[in-house]
Amino acid sequence: MRKRRRSRAPAAGEQVDATRRRLLKAAAGIAGGGALAAGCEYRTQLFLLDDAPTESEVQHPSWSESRIRAYRPLGKTGHAMSDISFGTSGLDNADVVKRALDRGVNFFDTSPDYSRAGSERVLGEGIKGYPREKLFIVSKFCTPDGHLPNDASPEEVIRAVEGSLQRLGVDYLDLAHIHACNSLDRLMNPNIHAAAERLKEQGKLRFVGVSSHTPRLETVMRHAVDSGKFDVIMVAYNFANWPDLTNIFRDAHEKGVGVVAMKTLKGAQHTVLSDFTPTERESFPQAAFKWVLANPYVSGLVVSINSHRQVDEYLAASGQRPSEADLALLERYDALVSGDYCRPGCGACLSSCPRGVPIDDVLRFTTYYRGYGQQRVALEEYARIPAERNASACAACPAPCERACPFGLRVADKLRAAREMLHIG
Ligand code: SF4
Ligand code: SF4
Repeated sequence: MRKRRRSRAPAAGEQVDATRRRLLKAAAGIAGGGALAAGCEYRTQLFLLDDAPTESEVQHPSWSESRIRAYRPLGKTGHAMSDISFGTSGLDNADVVKRALDRGVNFFDTSPDYSRAGSERVLGEGIKGYPREKLFIVSKFCTPDGHLPNDASPEEVIRAVEGSLQRLGVDYLDLAHIHACNSLDRLMNPNIHAAAERLKEQGKLRFVGVSSHTPRLETVMRHAVDSGKFDVIMVAYNFANWPDLTNIFRDAHEKGVGVVAMKTLKGAQHTVLSDFTPTERESFPQAAFKWVLANPYVSGLVVSINSHRQVDEYLAASGQRPSEADLALLERYDALVSGDYCRPGCGACLSSCPRGVPIDDVLRFTTYYRGYGQQRVALEEYARIPAERNASACAACPAPCERACPFGLRVADKLRAAREMLHIG
């Protein structure tokens, strides 16, 4: 059984030291096996890192048998999805999938670029033997090495999906998303849509969707809904954000487009806020889920799950409405993190950086590391940023970005701290 960690925030120096210690340990193991991944000397080491540094200390007894209590129509797909569904970023334990299946989860979201296809393989292992027709399996038009280039041919797109099928051990995907989409060119890419049509004809794909948590999120989602080409949209959505999204969700609902929410925990910094009591830390995810699900146009939400404990804790919010206490907790959280939380879909500071550092992405990876306990995912994602655009550029920079955030985030300081946290080399 994995040892529980304290939920207090480690100081930045402690985090970096701990990471380096684990890396040194991992590197020592690799040196004997000579198993470095081609083209990235750190990639294999990252797989050996511990994960989940932020598990709470106490679990409420009532959660131990929690299960899905509500299923909602996913647009016109004919599927009624579990209102709280399973995201696989960082997944490394097939037993957790089986537990979620036992508790009524029927919607699983994965991607080839989660842990270089490791998540797809583990999900495939977890669903083995379960009736396929009862499941809704979602992946992305993507490869283990990352997003397909915009000029990828239909054949390359088809091969990417066939790779997912093989790793998952299934004959078809219910849904494939155009992943982290930030432009209308990408959204309407004719090669992806041509490939999707051929995959549907071959019985390898049922529906097409789009996911986004990027600066042009509202523009992309508005166009996706109006285009009539998408069956599902998956959108970063959490309390007190994106005023126009509810209108887009309503229109999606009227047109039979399913709406799946992600990034619902708004950074999940509750685990590191000393102002929160242990009880509040435990209530926070459930309050956040209930808030999202109170929107009748949301079909369901996806949250990354990688422990039995998270299955118990998260599913306890299924079918529940937010209480006054939940809303008060969310408001307090919002006030505490507002000057610290980088909003998905914002990007207002990006043009201020002459080096083209993807500030929003880097800060999102720090959230994976600190808030979600997904150290391995965070380090892998950061390592994908080209060296000339990563946060190393910030060390000797006069920081024209410093006043560029309308929410008051001290961007340069955060980027320098992010480099300490995420850079390996
Ligand atoms: S740092 Fe501020 S301006 Fe930049 S993307 Fe995040 S929230 Fe937006
Ligand atoms: S401090 Fe970093 S993010 Fe800010 S402008 Fe300089 S290089 Fe860009």
